[in-house]
Amino acid sequence: MKHVLTASALVTALLVAGCGIPDAPAQSGQSPDEPWNWSEEYIRSAVNQVRAGRDLNPDSWPGGARVAVLLSYDVDNETVQGLRTGDISIGPLSQGQYGSRVALPRVVRLMNAENVPSTFFFPAWSLKLAPEQAELIQGSGMHEIAVHGWIHELNTSLDGPTEERLLRQAVDAIQEITGERPVGYRAPSWNHSPNTLRIVRDLGFLYESSLMADDRPYELLQDGEPTGVVELPVEWILDDAPLFNPRGNSYMNPRDVMQVWIDEFDKAWEEGTMFLLTMHPHVIGHRSRIVALEGLVDHMQAKGGVWFATHADAARYVRAQAGMPEVP
Ligand SMILES: [Zn+2]
Repeated sequence: MKHVLTASALVTALLVAGCGIPDAPAQSGQSPDEPWNWSEEYIRSAVNQVRAGRDLNPDSWPGGARVAVLLSYDVDNETVQGLRTGDISIGPLSQGQYGSRVALPRVVRLMNAENVPSTFFFPAWSLKLAPEQAELIQGSGMHEIAVHGWIHELNTSLDGPTEERLLRQAVDAIQEITGERPVGYRAPSWNHSPNTLRIVRDLGFLYESSLMADDRPYELLQDGEPTGVVELPVEWILDDAPLFNPRGNSYMNPRDVMQVWIDEFDKAWEEGTMFLLTMHPHVIGHRSRIVALEGLVDHMQAKGGVWFATHADAARYVRAQAGMPEVP
């Protein structure tokens, strides 16, 4: 049907609206909507909006460690249990509250007992609903609180000004509760709109942690130009949520998941790079799953040669090693 905006046309519209890359011109007599009709210039500029630049993996990690381990927790709680979509339903919301009420305290206890500095990314509303989470995390003085959107909004569904307003108010709200301005950003659902990187740069973040072009830290390029923004990349393999949904079609035994993470870590150790694991307190913080996390950390501790760090400390270290200017 001609009047329906096709998916590819929508992508085109979003790309063009976002960063001024040229319209997708058709070859003569062909529809511009079909990707196989896009011009070379258009495809290259679409791909180059945000791209991996130089590798920032240092020659060695602090203390001569072989590998850097960055554990992160996206404290989504109620925001992904209906709030972000407006689909308010009491049952799922109670699962979100489990995150702040039971799971986060369990996770923080484990990290403190193992002496593992970690980073906690918050959608602002998750913290506003249970501000006591900040005190719990900040108690040991070794963890970091960073920002993960306002209400876990999907950046790709927003226009630029709305996306920017939500991120600015999220940073302010988190600072008001924690007393510290977050220096790290992770996009909700790990995706960037065509405007996200520009907003991240304007807000002066030290690092970004949502993209997947490497398993080492790297510098982000925007339209082919270095940005000075450190990317600490993520991966779905290194995420607890997809494999721990007992009602999904990809459920895995937590002890089997632990083995996947151990194999990822062992290879990172061998290669002298970085192991970054994303978890969610309301997912990993259940009793049968915290066992998997505990097993992983015990394996790392026993192996040795590990630098456990917050994302902010890792970003500062790789910046310094690469001779990049300091970010306040
Ligand atoms: Zn999230």
